Amino acid sequence: MAACIFCKIIKGDIPAFKLFESDKVLAFLDIQPLSYGHALVIPKHHGAKITDIPDDTLSEILPVIKKVASATGAENYNVLQNNGRLAHQVVDHVHFHMIPKPNEAEGLG
Ligand code: 5GP
Ligand code: ZN
Repeated sequence: MAACIFCKIIKGDIPAFKLFESDKVLAFLDIQPLSYGHALVIPKHHGAKITDIPDDTLSEILPVIKKVASATGAENYNVLQNNGRLAHQVVDHVHFHMIPKPNEAEGLG
């Protein structure tokens, strides 16, 4: 979708720090991280909500979240996914947040 910021990242039209890419899934760092390593995992198929995404794509997302979580080395982390404005969704392209929760000694969160 031409106006979608995450579709532009997928196409390479705007930069992002990419962590993982496959035919159907892309993972990259959030531009305004809530903690060090805050990542977003998205389907390449454009859709606003998970109900808009084909099952064979959705099923490839959780293993990527797992890889990204492992790669950060985080022992504590939240996986979060918002659907709709009332649920705090801002970007209308499905995305899963992987948010490491550092301990106090590590700071940043
Ligand atoms: P939402 O509230 O929709 O679940 O979260 C959208 C997330 O996308 C936010 O955490 C925001 O920082 C991130 N984001 C918005 N625009 C960009 C961008 O251009 N690049 C990257 N890497 N992240 C973005
Ligand atoms: Zn999109």
